[in-house]
Amino acid sequence: MLIILLGPPGAGKGTQAEEIAQKYNLVYISTGDILRKAVKEETSMGRNAREYMDQGQLVPDNLVVEIVRDRLMKPDCANGALLDGFPRTVDQAVFLDQVLPDIGAKIDRVLLIEVEENELIERLTGRRVCSNCGANYHIKYKPPQVRNVCDQCGGDLYQREDDSLATVKERLEVYKKQTEPLIKFYQGKGLLSSIDGNQNIEDVFGQVRNILEDL
Ligand code: ADP
Ligand code: ADP
Ligand code: ZN
Repeated sequence: MLIILLGPPGAGKGTQAEEIAQKYNLVYISTGDILRKAVKEETSMGRNAREYMDQGQLVPDNLVVEIVRDRLMKPDCANGALLDGFPRTVDQAVFLDQVLPDIGAKIDRVLLIEVEENELIERLTGRRVCSNCGANYHIKYKPPQVRNVCDQCGGDLYQREDDSLATVKERLEVYKKQTEPLIKFYQGKGLLSSIDGNQNIEDVFGQVRNILEDL
């Protein structure tokens, strides 16, 4: 099974992905996580990607496409994968369509999580992330049990560089220009299901489950 999560930054893709990957036994692939790791480890890819990420711009397609191809080729993806944050441009989507036959896979469903803009800003500026395992929290909506400590692994929580108000606004613009065209792209293929993301985490997951159980 191959599922794609689409939606603006802050819609709750990563949060839902944790539960979806577990319940449906899918390998979770987040291009954002992979890129942040590369930046932290100062690999050559990380050095190339960093300035774009810090400014809230997309990393060039050719870099991201390599990451995804390499990851999907690994044998653990044979059971299925959950893509979060990829594709983000029509060119990336076209590339994905070209490589999937090589690994004998096809897209089963694209889940679009939609959330109002003011709420997105609230969610992103209040987001905290575990520096060790990447788990997501929110200072109001999903606080950890102990302040700034990850419930799952005890790691320190931090605020992402690009979750500052100014960069958040830039990312929302980038989403509208470069990623929103994917909605029509996947609608045209009959693959898109929309989810109302303006609800609590459990209710959003309920909608996800209803859609995936019909597949
Ligand atoms: P994305 O991966 O789409 O950028 P995240 O899953 O990281 O979004 O969620 C952004 C922030 O909003 C996080 O702090 C997360 O804890 C919080 N969040 C996620 N889903 C909800 C929800 N349904 N209601 C309230 N807050 C949420
Ligand atoms: P969010 O879901 O909160 O927007 P991500 O963690 O998915 O954030 O992405 C963080 C940053 O990583 C993006 O702003 C962009 O710079 C880069 N990035 C992640 N995925 C892609 C992609 N598919 N194409 C281009 N850049 C990407
Ligand atoms: Zn953790």
